[in-house]
Amino acid sequence: MKDELKIKFWGVRGSHPAPGPGTVKYGGNTACVEITAGGRTIILDAGTGVIPLGRELTRRAVQEKRPLELTLLFSHLHHDHTQGFPFFAPAYFPGARLHIFGPGGTPETLRQVLERNQAAETFPLSLRDMPAAKTIESVRDSQVLVWDDEGIWAGEPESSVGPGAAAIRIYKSHAHPGGVYVYRIEWRGRSVVYATDTEGYIGTDRKLAAFARGADLLIHDAQYSEDHYRGQLAGFPSTQGYGHSTATMAAELAAAAEVKRLILFHHDPAYTDDRVAAQESAAQAVFPSSRAACEGMEIKFQPEVGALFRNFSIAKPKPDFDKRRDGSKI
Ligand SMILES: [Zn+2]
Ligand SMILES: [Zn+2]
Repeated sequence: MKDELKIKFWGVRGSHPAPGPGTVKYGGNTACVEITAGGRTIILDAGTGVIPLGRELTRRAVQEKRPLELTLLFSHLHHDHTQGFPFFAPAYFPGARLHIFGPGGTPETLRQVLERNQAAETFPLSLRDMPAAKTIESVRDSQVLVWDDEGIWAGEPESSVGPGAAAIRIYKSHAHPGGVYVYRIEWRGRSVVYATDTEGYIGTDRKLAAFARGADLLIHDAQYSEDHYRGQLAGFPSTQGYGHSTATMAAELAAAAEVKRLILFHHDPAYTDDRVAAQESAAQAVFPSSRAACEGMEIKFQPEVGALFRNFSIAKPKPDFDKRRDGSKI
């Protein structure tokens, strides 16, 4: 369906995959969320959840006889957010076009990390062995990416977009070791914020709350229970400073940001389904519209009535990642 904003969860676990009978309900794959904005596919992170998603995307493209084009956004480059990429079927699909964005100290950093993940010593196929056309670009704080009929390009906060285009706003958080990028995807008046791998602050993270303000959906890290975080859960050390939140911290942020709905994300791999359900209850006590993410969960939004050019002015800036490079191979 083209005229909707759809969010689908393919991997909801943090740190490492957690298969087995204790995680059947919520799932064991690491971070991956598929956003479909008016027919355009945006993937958030490439944990192991991106592997079944990749198979589904190639199947759809073949079945519907249409070109496969997608945007992949990395929040950061820790293993649980990149480990599925070497097995991502669209990257092996000749004719596919992948626009890949993520963090990096220099414009080359993201490319170098992905190449290193597939070095000959550690994986049989290099990045160059993946035949899809790829652009790989490092993003920065406050940037806005716009994806419209002309391609995907970097704009400024007040860039204009036409009706139906998707805009991706970027905020760099320092509430995780090495930093993490938070993405806000806006499409026809609807918005979803992806804030994984971020630790709450006393009084909530005010900058993140401002960035997420009023979003239809907030996907927020909620890896730990309160006792675990404080070091009061038998067998587990305190996780303060690890860069992850409790369910309560996520709920407090959702309330401060006045979002419509909260999805708890990045569940601890040691948590069975019962513990994750308890996380959901803890969040609901603070912010009732909370749910724990589970694999296969889908959330859909129709366009906001009358919202075609929301938040944007007229001038269209020169693109940084211009469309001439869209087809170039690495
Ligand atoms: Zn993570
Ligand atoms: Zn991380």
